[in-house]
Amino acid sequence: MITIKSAAQIEKMRAAGALLHQVLEALRQAIQPGITTLELDHMAEKLIRDAGAIPSFKGFEGFPFSICASVDDQVVHGFATKDRLREGQLLSVDCGVILNGWQSDSAFSALVGEGSAEAEKLIRDTEKCFWLGANQARAGNRLGDISHAVQTYAEAQGYGVIRDLCGHGIGEEMHEDPSIPNFGRPGRGVRLQAGMTLAIEPMIARGDWHVYLYDNDWTVATRDGSLCAHYEHTVLVTDGEPEVLSLPGANVKEMAQ
Ligand code: MG
Ligand code: MG
Repeated sequence: MITIKSAAQIEKMRAAGALLHQVLEALRQAIQPGITTLELDHMAEKLIRDAGAIPSFKGFEGFPFSICASVDDQVVHGFATKDRLREGQLLSVDCGVILNGWQSDSAFSALVGEGSAEAEKLIRDTEKCFWLGANQARAGNRLGDISHAVQTYAEAQGYGVIRDLCGHGIGEEMHEDPSIPNFGRPGRGVRLQAGMTLAIEPMIARGDWHVYLYDNDWTVATRDGSLCAHYEHTVLVTDGEPEVLSLPGANVKEMAQ
């Protein structure tokens, strides 16, 4: 069942989104050669708890950390470790918070120090996929319009669109209906309504889209070892412009140009 949020509920999701944005920006600033993903995880947990919120990932179905830290060919659900990050690695950080009972979910990819032009382009293009998808999150459109916009741009750049994992509705629960694949046909699927809140999250690989699961039963990586980037925000569907709850003030239409 897809939940439609009231104005009061949306206000709470806005607050959760604003907090998550602050946390992720602090992590982004801290990423540099020599830091460990476990240090980033501890930093995230402290920032979230100090703000009176709960790190939603920690303990979710047994997941042991407050962030997912996925390096290079890891797509999502990477474990934080004591390994020092090295110059040129691609790190994807995914995080979620619960503030006053309401959730927000967001992720970004960044290079550790300086990286290759290809990795930089993959990160930029994955963000562009998100903006193109988010720009379709308008009342009256259909879910497939989001999926199709992501897929079309990614595949035009020669990338693989990860198919085993999807975006999702979000609200009081981290994962609500509907499931939002990053591939699909325009004009198909659920009709979008004002008050729906969607975590749109393209996961894009430089190579083929096939993935495998680590022995830890969580971490997903590309089967061909190709680099993968991830970008996610919690988006509110309105009768007008989509609102990115986890990136206050963002202009979706402009970003999608
Ligand atoms: Mg996420
Ligand atoms: Mg998500």
